[in-house]
Amino acid sequence: MKPIYKRVLIKISGEGLMGDEGFGISAEAVKKVAEQIKEVVDAGIEVCLVVGGGNIFRGVQGASKGLSRTVGDHVGMMATVMNALYLQNVMEGLGLSVRVMSGLEIPQVCENYIYRRALRHLQKGRVVIFAGGTGSPYFTTDTGAVLRASEMGCEVLLKSTQVDGVYDDDPRKNPKAKKYKQVSYDEVIEKQLRVMDLPAIAMARDNKLPILVFSQHEKGALMKVLAGKGNFTIIKES
Ligand code: UDP
Repeated sequence: MKPIYKRVLIKISGEGLMGDEGFGISAEAVKKVAEQIKEVVDAGIEVCLVVGGGNIFRGVQGASKGLSRTVGDHVGMMATVMNALYLQNVMEGLGLSVRVMSGLEIPQVCENYIYRRALRHLQKGRVVIFAGGTGSPYFTTDTGAVLRASEMGCEVLLKSTQVDGVYDDDPRKNPKAKKYKQVSYDEVIEKQLRVMDLPAIAMARDNKLPILVFSQHEKGALMKVLAGKGNFTIIKES
């Protein structure tokens, strides 16, 4: 299968690194993700990754238990750095060249995010994992993913989810839910289709960044989607 993109950003949620364990990092799940990314790199595509932190902590969780939202979000952003460092090391074990760049400055463990340096890494064939989200509280890593994909000039953002695309209702609860082959940013916003948070979708719309939504559970789905095949929904301008 021949990929149709040259530079992409893949958003991996914290859940994607958690496996069946319900919390934290599953060595097995990380290995699977790393192997899939390797296939993409081996196919000659320049790869940016954004990792979430929901497998460890989300700011809103803390806020619901009385923690300051800002502090909770700081903890959440640190969780994304933990995931990124783990994934980096596993990917390196597969022979990939990988840099973690964080929106929060933690120079002892990874590079700070610097626009020109990130571009240089990509041009040299290194995978860049963008950690720390946007570096600011009150955002999510989905918004961080749209931001970095826009900055890096990625052609598409690939978002893996529990199901194989965007539906008009939750297909796990409603068997009659209809899947979209293509849907506009405005429709996602108006119908509150909940595939990504609103700031992320609005920013993708403003920057004309297509989002490909596919299943994290389907074997080989990522490479198929990159070849324009398989099961996915594309979010773009109508
Ligand atoms: N976060 C933040 N700013 C950002 C990105 C993330 O404050 O720009 C915090 C926020 O608390 C969020 C947590 O980091 O809940 C983990 O990110 P996210 O919930 O997006 O992870 P995912 O759902 O993708 O696993």
